[in-house]
Amino acid sequence: MEDFIVSARKYRPVSFKQVVGQHAITNTLQNAIKNNQLAQAFLFTGPRGVGKTTCARILAKTINCENISDETEACDQCESCTSFNNNASFNIHELDAASNNSVDDIRNLVERVRIPPQVGKYKVYIIDEVHMLSAAAFNAFLKTLEEPPAYAKFILATTEKHKIIPTILSRCQLFDFRRIGVEDITEYLMYVAGNENIDAEEEALHTIAQKADGALRDALSTFDQIASFSGNKLTYKNVIDNLNILDYEYYFKITDALLSSDLSNLLLILNEIIDNGFEGQHFLNGLGEHLRNLLLIKDPATVELMHASHSLKEKYSSQAASCDTAWLLSALEIFNKYDLNYKTSNNKRLHVEICLMQLSHIGQTANPVPTVKRQIPIASPKPEIQNKVVPPAPKTEQPTLTEEKPAYTKPPEPKAEESPKPAEQIQIKPAKKPMAEGNGRRIKNISIKDSLKAMNKKKPEDEEVIEAVIKTPFDQEKLLDTWARFTTSYQSKSPSFANAVAKYKPVLKDNFVVEYKVDNSIIAKDVLNVTALLRFLKTELNNNQITLTPTFPEKNEQKTAYTDREKFDEMAKKYPEIIKLREQLDLELGF
Ligand SMILES: [Zn+2]
Repeated sequence: MEDFIVSARKYRPVSFKQVVGQHAITNTLQNAIKNNQLAQAFLFTGPRGVGKTTCARILAKTINCENISDETEACDQCESCTSFNNNASFNIHELDAASNNSVDDIRNLVERVRIPPQVGKYKVYIIDEVHMLSAAAFNAFLKTLEEPPAYAKFILATTEKHKIIPTILSRCQLFDFRRIGVEDITEYLMYVAGNENIDAEEEALHTIAQKADGALRDALSTFDQIASFSGNKLTYKNVIDNLNILDYEYYFKITDALLSSDLSNLLLILNEIIDNGFEGQHFLNGLGEHLRNLLLIKDPATVELMHASHSLKEKYSSQAASCDTAWLLSALEIFNKYDLNYKTSNNKRLHVEICLMQLSHIGQTANPVPTVKRQIPIASPKPEIQNKVVPPAPKTEQPTLTEEKPAYTKPPEPKAEESPKPAEQIQIKPAKKPMAEGNGRRIKNISIKDSLKAMNKKKPEDEEVIEAVIKTPFDQEKLLDTWARFTTSYQSKSPSFANAVAKYKPVLKDNFVVEYKVDNSIIAKDVLNVTALLRFLKTELNNNQITLTPTFPEKNEQKTAYTDREKFDEMAKKYPEIIKLREQLDLELGF
């Protein structure tokens, strides 16, 4: 049986033009060779596995070649070249400073530098991981580096440039190797697969390339590993099984379920993912990436920022067509919040589940409703969800556009025998109002920038977008109830704001003006939170004509509490729950 040679070695580039993804560097080196302006010492920096040592070897071979070609490549035929190709050249010395970092190791090397080359013109010394040299070793080396013989060339390589002392840095010509692009790696893997007669799916190679994070050597090792496992057919399935990658199909399924607000399906898919041994954070990151890709594919200008194979891009494209940009931006915002808080959450699984619940409730609207408690009728089929996936929305769902009567008509009762309470129906509907849906569909194909603009505008100037006027009447009591629900649910987001607006009772005035009292204007000017409050009121009270007017208490209005009764009232003002508690426990007040 033939000896197996790992691909990273077998396919190590032997000429400048074979080097993958470092054209700027190879061009500079070739020009220097051509113009005979080669420096005496080089410092190659960059992440692992991107071709530093490979380039050093090619450089050593090329400058020793007797017949350098017009393209400034080694001829591969002369005596020097053949000895290089057989790893038998005496003109190249490699030292791995990670394991040979003592003063003695460096002294040995310095000794050898004094002997001129027997064959060829240059002796090349490659010191890998040079930052690992001890301080004493560095000093022993410095002298040689300062005044090397003309035939000696030094190539220092390191992954950690910041650890190199300035005296060394200043004596070297610097080359920054960059991570190799996913596309470049994929292409190279295709070439290797072709050469090895392995039938590999593009998707599979792409995934390997992505996982390698810019290091071609890692990609080739992974390739070997999976190829040895799966024989001469390398599929996407092989790759994800071996690398423990979550199948992208899951993200497509999750997004579909999010778009149709199919909560039960979402939880089931998540359960399957967790059962397969994937961490919540892993899943969240993947979902974020997926949402980002959906956003990127919408604009031809940003498509190249995403790393995916052709077939996968088509898949993204078709899913992106069914979700509008505003939805994606809101989804990314929610994802980001949950991603940030993941580490601090006590129940990770629940944390991810809540994230999915929130995401599923954005609806195709530019304005997500944060932390709103919603009930979903579980016993009956969900007619409103079915309606949602069939564009365009049925006529009965359209709000009437006249100002006279309450524009928002209740949706028809579901046909199912066990119909949910009407109250629940009304609660669910507002988030998916046809106006929002229509709005969303229209901005489907415009760029991200435009959509951001549209989001920031309160009322889009676009004539096509008609905002329906919804004026469901409500009374003071309903207002207070909704207000209290906001302050409770908003505790997690901004306790200071929630407490500030909970302190005083809002008053309902004419024309749906809600007058509320706060201690200072800073709270009233807290646009983000005030907007969230207004949005909550509008959604919960099903009335988009509500406006908020802040008032500020007079200085002497805040008198000090003297009697027990006054103290109780003060406390109740700050913590309205106290009154509820008193009622629930049926407590008598002793004053
Ligand atoms: Zn040659």
